[in-house]
Amino acid sequence: MPDGGRAASDSVSETILPGVVDHHVHLGLVDRALLADGPVTEVHDLGWDPRESTAWAAAPPSGVRVRYAGPFHTAPGGYPTGRSWAPAAAVRHLASPRAAAKAVADVAAVGGFAVKVALHAGMPLLHDDVLRALVAEAHSAGLPVLVHAEGAGQAERAIDAGADTLVHVPWTNALSDAVIARATHMTWISTFAIHDGLGRPVALERVLDNARRFVAAGGTLAYGTDMGNGPTPVGVNEREIELLGRVLEGAALLRAVLGSPDGPALTAPLPVPGTAADLITWLRAAHRLQGLVGDAVHPVVNVHEPGHDESS
Ligand SMILES: [Zn+2]
Repeated sequence: MPDGGRAASDSVSETILPGVVDHHVHLGLVDRALLADGPVTEVHDLGWDPRESTAWAAAPPSGVRVRYAGPFHTAPGGYPTGRSWAPAAAVRHLASPRAAAKAVADVAAVGGFAVKVALHAGMPLLHDDVLRALVAEAHSAGLPVLVHAEGAGQAERAIDAGADTLVHVPWTNALSDAVIARATHMTWISTFAIHDGLGRPVALERVLDNARRFVAAGGTLAYGTDMGNGPTPVGVNEREIELLGRVLEGAALLRAVLGSPDGPALTAPLPVPGTAADLITWLRAAHRLQGLVGDAVHPVVNVHEPGHDESS
């Protein structure tokens, strides 16, 4: 950390922003301690053994808020059953709509913030009546439904069943504008960088195109990395921000990546970023704001304020 940087900062434009929120992580698959006191101030674990996720949230890496969805809800034998990375207790099987109420009650009982559902073509799939029962029970418990939708038709099923969030922007198929128009109440989590790589330009362009049309139609895009899925960085995923910058810029980009000002804040001797490259540079230069946000000389930029102008 540069010494004396703050004391001499009167001549530098110091800005304060909320920390990074990663809306899609798997803490059971990474070295969680690496997140301590870094720019990522909140993570959402989207599928694990609830006994473990509650323990992480109770004793999180220093300065990090951990929220968790609890287990994956899927058909008997459905994804991710049998995956080497998935402990048995990370998967909850539902054979009929009657099983939905107890499954949702169990998520609420362990303090889960959402009900995670897997719809993965090529493996056994939840029937529509079970899916709809899960959505109805989750909503009556005040919990959003977050869906992993993979393969032809699965994103459409999630959208039409009333799910709140797709945990990956759909990447296996180009969605029609008519389907996207039915999804504008939703949040889609980016996870673009997992489609990046040699020989995969088609998937990457398809996912970016789905995202651009979703945002243009009024949908909400949120930063999420699927941290733990492959060799993802534990912390800020700069490639994810770079790819988000191909869909969003300015205040909309900051809203997608950063949290609300009631959480831990970051400070850097740079102007408020306007592009993905600026945001990456800003986050590299940032450190945690010490002390109370209310005492800060420069106000925290509330990126979620409607009509906020990032150029001010
Ligand atoms: Zn995931």
